Amino acid sequence: MTTGDPIVIVGAALTGGTAAAALRHEGFDGPITLIGAEPRHPYERPPLSKSLLRGETPFDEALVNPEASYADEGIELRLGMRATAIDPRRRRVTMHDGEEVPFERLLLATGARNRRFPIPGLDLPGVHALRTVEECEAIRADADSGSRAVVAGMGFIGSEVAASLRRLGVEVTAIDGGAVPLERVLGPEVGRVLAGIHRDHGVRLVSNDRLRAFEGSGRVECAVTASGERLGCDFAVVGLGVEPATELAVAAGLQVDNGILVDARFRTSEEGIFAAGDVANLDHPLFGRRLRVEHWQNARKQGRAAALAMLGAGAPFDEVPWFWSDQYDHNIQYAGHHTEWDDFVVRGSLDDRSFLGFYRKDGRVQSVVGMNRGSDVLQAAALIRSGGLADPDLLRDDDLPVRSLGGAEAAHGGPHP
Ligand SMILES: Cc1cc2nc3c(=O)[nH]c(=O)nc-3n(C[C@H](O)[C@H](O)[C@H](O)COP(=O)(O)OP(=O)(O)OC[C@H]3O[C@@H](n4cnc5c(N)ncnc54)[C@H](O)[C@@H]3O)c2cc1C
Repeated sequence: MTTGDPIVIVGAALTGGTAAAALRHEGFDGPITLIGAEPRHPYERPPLSKSLLRGETPFDEALVNPEASYADEGIELRLGMRATAIDPRRRRVTMHDGEEVPFERLLLATGARNRRFPIPGLDLPGVHALRTVEECEAIRADADSGSRAVVAGMGFIGSEVAASLRRLGVEVTAIDGGAVPLERVLGPEVGRVLAGIHRDHGVRLVSNDRLRAFEGSGRVECAVTASGERLGCDFAVVGLGVEPATELAVAAGLQVDNGILVDARFRTSEEGIFAAGDVANLDHPLFGRRLRVEHWQNARKQGRAAALAMLGAGAPFDEVPWFWSDQYDHNIQYAGHHTEWDDFVVRGSLDDRSFLGFYRKDGRVQSVVGMNRGSDVLQAAALIRSGGLADPDLLRDDDLPVRSLGGAEAAHGGPHP
């Protein structure tokens, strides 16, 4: 890699925008091209379901880098342009208009998109998904004129949208497949707390049910559930999960399995092609398994780390995943990664909505969730990094600082088996 060799980044959002800036900050002075299908400068998505949706903060605050910085840093932006193919052998990206952009190193930061299901009425006006600022603005416009919304899917984004809509004075009915929101991800204990919070704020929860169709003449008028409920609405927001945007990688013959497979230095199965952010399924050295993480901190840290990796620098990526969600006045944070757990140990009080919960597997803390206990969650990340072996009585003891829980295990520094 010499200074004249071009680096191309496909996907101009948090991962791509962070990587482009980091390349320059690390001293790379060759050509950088950042290609993005969205017409906007790279922006962060968390405000779309929170402050931006409620009209509390301007779009500019969501920008990944100041707009002028791209020209200042000599980063060529190709916004509103879709890459349609990659040729790993000829080292070219083909754009939707047929133009070819040469690269020496390529970063795929194509992120994720909302999953689409064959649900009748999904295309009716007034039925929204939420991934882009335009979709946020469309929901906001409907919230200004409509009084009743259906939210389908109470994952993090659905839950945040429900909370923001309530703040805007909209009546919300939420359909969820679980008995309580986020049950599959965070377990029934935390789900019950979340259900209580949403009910306290006036959300009608339709649980253990699922969306079957939207109906309306010319515009959505009601949502029909599998159990036959008919929920009248002026508009609806569907949040049924996302899928990684891997089509370029698949067509180019890269290895893909729930995201683009990369090693801990973001290298795909093709020499010179890297992937990071929501789209990357990374072989995680700390957890000893593959992780594809769909969160802000991961995108930001991976964007920077992938830039270093493309320059042949940096260390294997072994960050403990962390994310937050804001719902009403409650801040929820999570660190670590679990797929299943043996027990859930709580310190603090679920009833008081102030707690830290530890997900343990084989006696080890794999992950933690905190409500209104952000600093505890960050401290618990050290326990997870250290290997996480901890006595449930100590975990429960609110008089013991979380930072002291790493103990002897931390001193030995052994990661997960
Ligand atoms: C409403 C909302 C709220 C969120 N809130 C939180 C939160 O509170 N906390 C948290 O931790 N995380 C949150 N997230 C998740 C976080 O925003 C994502 O993890 C992050 O956006 C991932 O960044 P990314 O750059 O990897 O991918 P993306 O943000 O998905 O961006 C990928 C970009 O690539 C572009 N692209 C794809 N294919 C092509 C192509 N062929 N050619 C050109 N461009 C292409 C896409 O158009 C897109 O702009 C939220 C997400 C959403 C949608």
